[in-house]
Amino acid sequence: AAVGLLATSSMAACGDDSGGDSGTDGGSSVGKVGVILPDTASSQRWSTDDPKYLKAAFDAAGVPVDIQNAQGDKSQFQTIAEGMISSGVKVLMIVNLDSGTGKAVLDKARAAGIATIDYDRLTLGGNADYYVSFDNVAVGKLQGEGLVKCLTEMKAVKPVVARLNGSPTDNNATLFKEGYDSVLNPKFESGEFVKGPDQSVPDWDNAQGGTIFEQMLTENPKIKGVLAANDGLGNAVISVLKKQKLNGKVPVTGQDATVQGLQNILVGDQCMTVYKAIKQEADAAAELAIGLAKGTRKDTGQTVTDPETKKEIPAVLLTPDPIFKDSVKDVVADGFVTKDQLCAGDFAKLC
Ligand code: BGC
Repeated sequence: AAVGLLATSSMAACGDDSGGDSGTDGGSSVGKVGVILPDTASSQRWSTDDPKYLKAAFDAAGVPVDIQNAQGDKSQFQTIAEGMISSGVKVLMIVNLDSGTGKAVLDKARAAGIATIDYDRLTLGGNADYYVSFDNVAVGKLQGEGLVKCLTEMKAVKPVVARLNGSPTDNNATLFKEGYDSVLNPKFESGEFVKGPDQSVPDWDNAQGGTIFEQMLTENPKIKGVLAANDGLGNAVISVLKKQKLNGKVPVTGQDATVQGLQNILVGDQCMTVYKAIKQEADAAAELAIGLAKGTRKDTGQTVTDPETKKEIPAVLLTPDPIFKDSVKDVVADGFVTKDQLCAGDFAKLC
């Protein structure tokens, strides 16, 4: 068999005899991989970072890949999936828009003999061959701990803390919340912090997040800290705080280390973000997809339990990093954002 397209040590452990192969067949015998990303509005990552790193990983291995984005539209998601299935992909990798539509797509793929990967978001009841993500409870814990750190540094006394959660249909949002609530709830119970409003934002919609937070602040003008589940929601909160000249006085969290989030941190309007090395996530998922396309299955050494089916799904869960003002430079050093992006226009004076 013409294998040896991916010359990594972990693939060698799969039992591929890739030693003497030149790997020049361009991947045609390996089969195509289809990737469906969710939207372009809930986080910058889906339009820039994930497609870039995924394409690079498949290109480097010479494996054909079709990466499409459903633009937040569930019926478009299904249409893209059907197109990929009928075009004969061997592996389908999805970031679901919700578990229901995700499961429908995974079921259809499986019925057509296609291997499946849940990328970043677990599809509940979906029974994918693999799940590749970060330790999302750990992401939430870092957010909770980050907010505690910023409030402590500001010497806040009994601060009212609001929570602006991610989409109720995204299992990750549930896991993030589990993580930050494990840090915040004991503070609420001890009376150190005061429990403020706690609301989810449908589809992670940033504009809706701003409207929800505006209402929260009107009803609770004493909010002194905001756990916002990602940088987009964090920026929506900061925009509302700005109108009241409260930006910089009320710490706000985030996630994804977006250029905007990092700039908000440099300016002092955002307390922290969580950096998830998307390159690592894309590389790990691509490696598994390429294995599946060749008919090999790597043991990831880890599983997650689908809370719906109680089934163990083989998983790769990467480690997230908290980023504060003094560690923004680490994200640049890792090559995720460039100094030019960060220091454009008005931000030049901060760099
Ligand atoms: C991802 C986050 C992202 C959010 C909104 C989550 O499932 O893990 O990185 O910010 O979705 O797109």
